Amino acid sequence: MSSVIKEELLLTALILLSGTLLGWLVGDYTTGLLGALLIYAARHIYQLISLYTTIDKKKEITKPYPKGIWRGIYQESSRQQRQNQKLKQNLKQFISSFQAASAAVSDAIITLDNAYQISWANPAAQTLLNIQWPKDNGLLLTKKIDYAFLDDYLQQADFGKPLEFSPQNSQNSIISLQVTPLGKTEQQLLVVVREITQLFHLNQARRNFVSSVSHELKTPLTVLVGFLEALSDAETLPHQNRPLELMQQQASRMQLLVNDLLTLSRLEIESKTVDEVPLPICQLISEVVEEAKLLSDTQEHHFSLKINETLSLHGNTQEIRSSFSNLLSNAVKYSPPNSTITIVWEENHAGPYFSVSDRGEGIAKRHIPRLTERFYRIDAGRSRESGGTGLGLAIVKHALYRHDAELKISSQIGSGSTFSCQFPPSRAIHLHATDSE
Ligand code: ADP
Repeated sequence: MSSVIKEELLLTALILLSGTLLGWLVGDYTTGLLGALLIYAARHIYQLISLYTTIDKKKEITKPYPKGIWRGIYQESSRQQRQNQKLKQNLKQFISSFQAASAAVSDAIITLDNAYQISWANPAAQTLLNIQWPKDNGLLLTKKIDYAFLDDYLQQADFGKPLEFSPQNSQNSIISLQVTPLGKTEQQLLVVVREITQLFHLNQARRNFVSSVSHELKTPLTVLVGFLEALSDAETLPHQNRPLELMQQQASRMQLLVNDLLTLSRLEIESKTVDEVPLPICQLISEVVEEAKLLSDTQEHHFSLKINETLSLHGNTQEIRSSFSNLLSNAVKYSPPNSTITIVWEENHAGPYFSVSDRGEGIAKRHIPRLTERFYRIDAGRSRESGGTGLGLAIVKHALYRHDAELKISSQIGSGSTFSCQFPPSRAIHLHATDSE
């Protein structure tokens, strides 16, 4: 039994005893006991009122505490009061450091509720988007950034890629808007807006430079290759044969490189695909497989095909062909002779996919995220030897990006690799059995 309860029982016993004593003195025990009960009730009512007044007036509960059970109640209330104050102070400190941090960030940070209304914004939101907090609380984000494409972007709720555009209040700048769903139910949205004008122009300048240089190189290279072919057809002295052969090899390597650079800059410069059609996908796959067989030549790879003939795709012929062909030629280049290469065209829960699996050496985990970077090679010597330009997977990534698709790479050292092009369901075309015949 706790000390306060013991104290309270003792006090009650004392009051009752005094009542009995009073009853004996006046010769009426009922009056004595009634008097004791009155004192007992008055004590509790007095303590209740005084505790309520202290709490109601938000006063601090201070010592000395009353006796009995009330000492326990006062002690516990005072402890909770101190704990609350500490929590409040911590919260205040957290809020002020959060406010200082959010004010120091140069990116605009905005939170939206499930109706896309602004529920909070940091000071940078005013500079970048003219959103003032708390004045614009509850305002629709699309009222502040009045672009139809932003409305579509929010409605579609596919926030994988950031949105890049010039804001209305500063047409010369370019911003990138990235949305992330917040919280357990993902009902709120976190919008981070960053100024990317300089980066955008730098990237554009780089793309234009690469594209112009590649264009400029194309014609002289064609002339060189033409003359080298003519020379190799003509009668030459024996000591000229090897240099001529090497010159031809290197010139065609350069031609491949220039062509890949031009393809890549075209894919980068135009943000959306054009000329999209329902693709004769089975025919396209069988053509790229035939090309891969030619490339395999004496290495005699086995090609195993699992094709869903009732499934087709909406896309750009050239870009899809180039993507599939790059993946297949890599499988041939990086897997041993006589090994099997499996090609699958199927549909899964995420949409249609095309995959190429090989039984090559496999790729270490650390290389996988970097494979689609320009000129990233695991073994530069081997890549060059097999005629690679180091741009194949970068081309695949960009072509797929323009089709809202994704390149997925999985690999196991010693067992081989699988490269898959995962398309969204919206690009699938389901043919009836008779259509595909
Ligand atoms: P490359 O012209 O060098 O083949 P890619 O962009 O097509 O350029 O590929 C980049 C690198 O990824 C290659 O150099 C190679 O190291 C690695 N790679 C690509 N495909 C495979 C594969 N199927 N198996 C193992 N490594 C691969």
